[in-house]
Amino acid sequence: MKYLSVLFVLTIMLATISCDSLDNIDTDPDPLITPEIADSQTYDLVTPIYGMQVSIDSGVDRNTQDVLDILDRRAAQFLDCQFIEGSQLGFEDSMLDNGTIIPPLSDLRVFVVPNRYRCDVPGVSVCNGTYFGGVDIVTVAEGGFPGCEVFLPWKHELGHRYGMDANHTNQSDFQSCIGASSCDIGDVIGFD
Ligand SMILES: [Zn+2]
Repeated sequence: MKYLSVLFVLTIMLATISCDSLDNIDTDPDPLITPEIADSQTYDLVTPIYGMQVSIDSGVDRNTQDVLDILDRRAAQFLDCQFIEGSQLGFEDSMLDNGTIIPPLSDLRVFVVPNRYRCDVPGVSVCNGTYFGGVDIVTVAEGGFPGCEVFLPWKHELGHRYGMDANHTNQSDFQSCIGASSCDIGDVIGFD
């Protein structure tokens, strides 16, 4: 039992270090975000191109139009890169190789938050982005990794919507299209 406790503490410490080494070690993550919390936000903003439904937390610094434009632009980049059909796919139902139908991006809700936050995901306790498949919502943090571009996990989470497994077994099929141009951070802990 004593041994188990030591192991537990060690595991927590390792997890903490893994996250904090990528972020400001002095700041705690923001409170927990669950699918229910994401689902309860008011999505009254709409991106100009794809019509994604967006909720921006009051703590986000960037102006609203800029946020909406970034989400649209990078979604188009991801689709152009990942699929033969390209960015047009965001306006249509699309079928994955396994037969799953993905509705247009106008069905997707995006909850934009300022910082990394606590999350309840296997193996991860702090997230910068999450795709909640059941409710078709992406939560994405504006910041979190010094030196990296804002909204770093956005394309990664879109990858999950368009067929990347939750456990990342097929991430190599997506990596070249979900990576960030200004930051080669790979599949760090904190993404889900
Ligand atoms: Zn992921």
